Amino acid sequence: MSILTTIYNDCPHCEAMRNIRIVCERETMKIRGEDVEFDSVFSVCETCGKDFASGEQMDAEIASARAVYRARHGIIGPQEIVAMRARYDVSQKSFAKLLDIGELTINSYEQGVIPSGAHNSLLRLVSIPENFLRLYRTNKDKLSDRQKAKIDRALSRLAIQDGATLEVGESTPLYSKNLEADKK
Ligand SMILES: [Zn+2]
Repeated sequence: MSILTTIYNDCPHCEAMRNIRIVCERETMKIRGEDVEFDSVFSVCETCGKDFASGEQMDAEIASARAVYRARHGIIGPQEIVAMRARYDVSQKSFAKLLDIGELTINSYEQGVIPSGAHNSLLRLVSIPENFLRLYRTNKDKLSDRQKAKIDRALSRLAIQDGATLEVGESTPLYSKNLEADKK
């Protein structure tokens, strides 16, 4: 156990202000039946010697254990999903419709819940603009005109950034010529 810092704060055991050590220790948590080792940060009261964790510390603990599990299995992280949606300028609701995944499920993944294997594969696939575009073309009828216009603009921007071969139609940007070839 290593001491990170000492603060003067409330001890829930003493129910009084105390010197509180913020400590770090290696711990193990089970995630989907697998042991995951991670750094746990929690508080120890110098007066009563008892430990406790704030809500923030507990959240951070779960987040760091999940991060270890994600890294081990190559699972997409919450920030990556949020960043992907921003790149495509697609709302959580529209993204859920395009992927045919529940909106609450997508939301939970963005809050840190680990995606199922199939959902992880799907999310990884659509993180590649060509694949997202393919899916978008298939399912775009589910979206509002306003949302479609936003996605069209975002995909055009992406295509320009990537230097891809771009032919912009009225409302359907073509990400690359490969897509056209694939249709045959
Ligand atoms: Zn105490």
